[in-house]
This record gives sequence, structure tokens and C-alpha cells, in this order.
Amino acid sequence: MDVSAVISGISTSLTIVKTIKDIDKNFDAAQYKLQIAELIGNLAETKIAMVELADTLAAQEVEIDRLKQFAVDIDKLRKYGDNFYPNPNEQGLRQFPYCPHCIDKKSGFFQLHRDDGPRGNCSCRNCKSKFIAMNMI
Ligand SMILES: [Zn+2]
Repeated sequence: MDVSAVISGISTSLTIVKTIKDIDKNFDAAQYKLQIAELIGNLAETKIAMVELADTLAAQEVEIDRLKQFAVDIDKLRKYGDNFYPNPNEQGLRQFPYCPHCIDKKSGFFQLHRDDGPRGNCSCRNCKSKFIAMNMI
């Protein structure tokens, strides 16, 4: 559900309320009960749509916070060429960069790991991408 579904549900409910208002309930009890039942059903559907919308908005807030943190974290990394690397450790060991595919998708920072085969071949344990002759610094 989205905002337009909620607005549509509320509009339908208002139309039903106007119809109920015009019914002379002393002379048309069946019509009155039918409209009340329709109104209750419509309000229940609208409530469900509101709950789904609230869940969607909450999930979007979480994603926005994650992306904000991603932007902060990427600024702390060392960039060399087109790749991002962890800050050098105390031993100064050469390191593989973080997976460029995962960074492009903003799914996180996953350092590449050496694969078997020629030096520089490595892969990402998150997205399973493989890289050939990736430079280490
Ligand atoms: Zn990856």
C-alpha cells in the first residue's frame, strides 16, 4: 500500500458517511445498516493500509540512516586509484581494497580476499564477485 491507497480509502469512507447522513434511518433501517457495514469495512482496510505505510516509512528511515553512515564511513577510508582501502595497520602489510561492486551498490565495505591462482586474483565474500590482477597497496 502507498499514500494514494490511504487517501482513496479515506475518500471512500467520507462518501459513505455523507450517504449515511442523508438516510432517514427511521424509514430505511436496512439501507442505514448496509452503509454502516460498508463504512466499517472501508475503515478497516484503510487502517491496514496505514499500518503498511507506517512500516514502509520506518524501513525507509532505517535505510536513510544506513546510507548516511555509509557516507561518513567512506570518507574515513584511504583511496588509491579507483579503489578504497582500509587504513594501514601497524605492521604495514599490503592489503586488498574493499569490493568496488559492494561500494557502488552501497551495500557495505567488504575487503577482498586472495583467491587461488595468479597473484592479485581476489574475490568478495559478500557479492561473490571475482577480480583478476587487483592491485594491493
Ligand atoms: Zn562485493
